[in-house]
Amino acid sequence: MSTFDYDLFVIGGGSGGVRAARVAAETGAKVGLAEESRMGGTCVIRGCVPKKLMVFASHYGVAAEDARRFGWEFRDARFDWPTFRGKLHAELDRLENVYRTNLARPGVVIHDTRATVKDAHTVALATGEEVTAKHVLIATGGVPYVPHFEGCELAITSNDVFSLETFPERILIVGGGYIACEFATIFNGLGAHVAQWYRGAQILRGFDDEVRGHLAELIRGHGVDLHVGLEVERMERAGGQIRVYGTDGRVELFDQVLYATGRHPNTEGLGLEAAGVKLGRWGEVVVDDYGQSSVPSIYAVGDVTNRITLTPVAIREGMAFVETVFKGNPTKPDHELVPSAVFTTPEYGSVGLTEEQAREQERIDVYCAEFRPMQKSFIDREERVLFKLIVSQATRKVLGCHIVADGAGEMIQLAAVAIKMGATKEDFDRTVAVHPTMAEEIVLMKEPVRSH
Ligand code: NDP
Repeated sequence: MSTFDYDLFVIGGGSGGVRAARVAAETGAKVGLAEESRMGGTCVIRGCVPKKLMVFASHYGVAAEDARRFGWEFRDARFDWPTFRGKLHAELDRLENVYRTNLARPGVVIHDTRATVKDAHTVALATGEEVTAKHVLIATGGVPYVPHFEGCELAITSNDVFSLETFPERILIVGGGYIACEFATIFNGLGAHVAQWYRGAQILRGFDDEVRGHLAELIRGHGVDLHVGLEVERMERAGGQIRVYGTDGRVELFDQVLYATGRHPNTEGLGLEAAGVKLGRWGEVVVDDYGQSSVPSIYAVGDVTNRITLTPVAIREGMAFVETVFKGNPTKPDHELVPSAVFTTPEYGSVGLTEEQAREQERIDVYCAEFRPMQKSFIDREERVLFKLIVSQATRKVLGCHIVADGAGEMIQLAAVAIKMGATKEDFDRTVAVHPTMAEEIVLMKEPVRSH
């Protein structure tokens, strides 16, 4: 008989926490979970899911214009934000309920309140209650970060986007990462005038250099007023708008300013340091390969560990934690060759190394096809897709794959299976093309464009 209230207490009801709680409970463990906001966490409530629904909505604007060029006739195509927002929130309510039901079924006890760590085995709830647990799992995710400057309180973050009262006609998006680039093309596709300011020389730092340049041109081509090397100096209210002063001397008015300048691990005020849990520079829980913190009974998964901050990775980490702690099968989550997509219009899907990373490591051949696909050239749209493979000269293995095209997120998932299996360039070449598609180019690239 355990002397603890719970075998496992999970703090945070997002992707990693919910999965770990459910799977642990299915082993027969007594599991509690506390969530201070809505069940489902960032991904479901204010991230991937509502974002992707906005991506879909934004595509119809472009599709309507393309359809005209294909011969369709429409009148009065206009996006109505309140209609979409109502449907969006109904969907989020439905998903939250699915999460609650899935947790309740194996018997997870849900506490809809904030929880903090008191010591290695004790969790304090904001209700005043204290519970004890043999293991505590920190799965509190991340929070948007906004730098401090004059007028910064006027900025919104991705947390606020989905419940905006009115649709902004003019929006400034600050940042050059996943979130900034995605919302730039989302708002642009929905009909807003979008400016995007990024402090560095090129957006999407860390991704393949050639692709970054290609995508920046496409984002501009779609109508986003993208500036690099530009920061906000200060902001002030101007009636119902915000006056923004740029570091290059420009002054512009916007209805909203969205800061997408990164996310930090959500550990503030959680009591972790006082309980002896080592935190890193950004406040992340420092864990070993098995997700164990410096306090042996306390583990952490997902964005709060600041490793690969993606939902499917958090889920894998949650599963590995349960295997390790509740199934007696020590399991390290696999962080190698994790594919991902930036849901801009068009999308950018990638897996493996960039050209820059690969050439640091070994001698490589680079294969690249850049062209205007049939659907776009027919309607005279200057939108070129890009398929790129980075191949080891020694083993012929494909080390990296980068795709910029409509549907690249879907394509990269399938390419990632082959690459994870260790496919060589010759395996790609042996595969017959599916014609006519854009993706067939991935098996048709004959000569390297360069070798390093
Ligand atoms: P990122 O880390 O991707 O990008 C942050 C951006 O903000 C960078 O361009 C960075 O510039 C800039 N920045 C940081 N600090 C400042 C500052 N003080 N002033 C001006 N600019 C600044 O973070 P995001 O917020 O876009 O996304 C967080 C994470 O969430 C991603 O890394 C990703 O893991 C995940 N995510 C995944 C998605 C997907 O899979 N499709 C979608 C959305 C998020 P610099 O490059 O110069 O540092």
